[in-house]
Amino acid sequence: MQLFTIFGNPVSHSKSPLMHNLSFSALNYDGVYTRYKLEDGTQLREKFFDLDIIGANITVPHKEYAFKACDVLDEFASKVGAVNTIVKHEGKLYGYNTDAPGFLKAISEFKNIKRILFLGAGGTAQSTSIVLRDAGYEVTILNRSAGRLERYKKEGFSTFTFENFEMKEAFDLVVNMTSAGLEDESLPCPIEILETTLPKAKACVDVIYGKVTPFLKFAQERNKPTKDGSDMLLYQGIIAFEHFTKHQYSFDEIKIHMQKAFIL
Ligand code: NDP
Repeated sequence: MQLFTIFGNPVSHSKSPLMHNLSFSALNYDGVYTRYKLEDGTQLREKFFDLDIIGANITVPHKEYAFKACDVLDEFASKVGAVNTIVKHEGKLYGYNTDAPGFLKAISEFKNIKRILFLGAGGTAQSTSIVLRDAGYEVTILNRSAGRLERYKKEGFSTFTFENFEMKEAFDLVVNMTSAGLEDESLPCPIEILETTLPKAKACVDVIYGKVTPFLKFAQERNKPTKDGSDMLLYQGIIAFEHFTKHQYSFDEIKIHMQKAFIL
């Protein structure tokens, strides 16, 4: 029996155990996936070995600790500085980032998208902005505070705070990359900025899943096609599962089983 877990704080709300256990069981893979509330991210590596697990997902707030805990990083994880999937192989920890490719796949259903506006500049925005740029999208970052924008500026992204925002050209897709709306009813930016950017957008996406956030509600009231973060969560899970099971199953084969976690 192979053991897997999700490390995070909090982890009680996580859908990952259900997603992975449904897939292990349906594919007759001898694995079990649990959850582990980890308070101190610096202990991640030690816990990984103590628990004798084969693989893990890592969620808020430990993705940067997970990056530091690995012996080997795949090229993309090393570029973005955040790891959400670790697999143990011959005593070494291999780190991957599956959030960003998951997000890329989730937005690929929207066609004719070129210019994307990110509301938010946290860890999720960091990895996804790079994957999107590599895939040919043009990403602009708007954030409440200036501090987090420094890193993006250095990487050549166009950045704004609420105070100096200007829209020179329409954005095709507007994405809520903040946690605004997760546990409160706030919009991710001043309403005036949404009133400027949304009318010209072809679609709007929120990375928060399982609820209609004030941002999604605002977009739906303006008849925009929208999507919450469920597909991103599903796709990052499928890609992690591929790593956990050493690519024995195809993406579509895993998807059939893992997506049942969203209808239970
Ligand atoms: P971080 O803590 O790294 O960053 C949070 C960002 O949100 C910052 O840019 C912060 O701005 C901004 N922010 C927070 N509250 C507000 C507010 N009230 N108004 C405006 N801006 C705000 O978070 P993550 O990047 O890790 O996560 C962001 C979101 O992505 C979360 O909601 C998380 O649940 C979701 N997520 C979804 C996934 C999925 O699979 N669907 C996967 C991973 C994350 P500032 O710099 O000014 O503080």
